[in-house]
Amino acid sequence: MSIPIAWTELYAHPLPEGHRFPMEKYDLIPQQLMYEGTIESHQIFAPEPLTEAQILRVHESSYWERLKHQQLSKKEQRESGFPLSDRLVERETIICNGTVLGARAALNGAQCAFNVAGGTHHAYRDKAEGFCLLNDIALGAMELLEDTSVNQVLVIDLDVHQGNGTAKIFEDDDRVFTFSMHGDRNYPFRKERSDIDVPMPDGIADDAYLELLHTHLKEIKDRVKPDFVFFQAGVDILASDKLGKLGVSLAGCQERDALVFDFCSELGIPLQVSMGGGYSPRIADIVDAHANTYRLAMRKFT
Ligand SMILES: [Zn+2]
Repeated sequence: MSIPIAWTELYAHPLPEGHRFPMEKYDLIPQQLMYEGTIESHQIFAPEPLTEAQILRVHESSYWERLKHQQLSKKEQRESGFPLSDRLVERETIICNGTVLGARAALNGAQCAFNVAGGTHHAYRDKAEGFCLLNDIALGAMELLEDTSVNQVLVIDLDVHQGNGTAKIFEDDDRVFTFSMHGDRNYPFRKERSDIDVPMPDGIADDAYLELLHTHLKEIKDRVKPDFVFFQAGVDILASDKLGKLGVSLAGCQERDALVFDFCSELGIPLQVSMGGGYSPRIADIVDAHANTYRLAMRKFT
C-alpha cells in the first residue's frame, strides 16, 4: 500500500518580494522527502482545480463569484493575507482538490493520504481569512458526506491557530465533529465554537501538551464514531515558531502525530492529512517538522 501525496508546482506560487508567507516550503517538503527516500515520485499526484459545483458545496456563491473575478473589497483582500490574483485563486482550488482527492483515495483503500499544502481552516463559507481562501477540509468533508458511504467525519485540528472557519461552517452540522487544540492568546482573537475546543496557555511544553491531546482523544472515542478523519497537522506549535508562542519540541510534535495516527489505526479509520501552518524563522526547521509527519505515516501505514 502506498500513501498518495497531492502536490503541483503551483503550490509554491511566488509572492511579491518581502511577503511573510513561507511559500518555498511547498517545494522543499517533497524535495526533501524524495531526496532522503521517504517517498517515491509515483506517490505524488497533481490535482486539477475543483469544479464550481464542488466549491459551492461549502462556499456561498456570492463570495465565490467575487473571489473568482477579483472583486473582493480592500478590507476582504487585506483579511485574506494574500496579494490576490487569478493564479492564487486557481492555486487554492487545486490545493483544495488535493484534499478532496486524497480523502477519496484514503477511503478507497489507501487508508492515509497527504496534501503538501491545505489545512486552510480560517476560510469561512463567505470570507477569506489568514492565508485561507477556500476551506479544504470542509470541502473534503462535504464531498465524502454527499458522495460516499461516510456518515460521520471527525476533524482533528492541531495547528496552533483555532480552526475557526471549519468550526463555524459545521457549527450546526452533527455529521462533522470538530476538535481544535490551539493557543488561547493567539490568532484568531475571536474564537468560534468547535465541538471540542482546547485553548492552551503560551509556552506549554511537550508533557502537558501531549497529556491534553491524549485525554481529549480518549473523550472523542466515547463521544463520536467517525468513518473518516481529517487531520490538520500544522507545525506552528513548535517552540521555534515565530507566530506560535507554544513550547513544543520537534520530538514532541512527532509524538503528537503518533497519537493521531495511532487513534486512527486502532479504530481502523482512514485519514487525510493537510499540512497547515509552520513559521519557524529557519526554513529547515519548518521542512523537517512537516517531513516528520510523512516519515511517521510511512512507517505506520505502509
Ligand atoms: Zn496556524
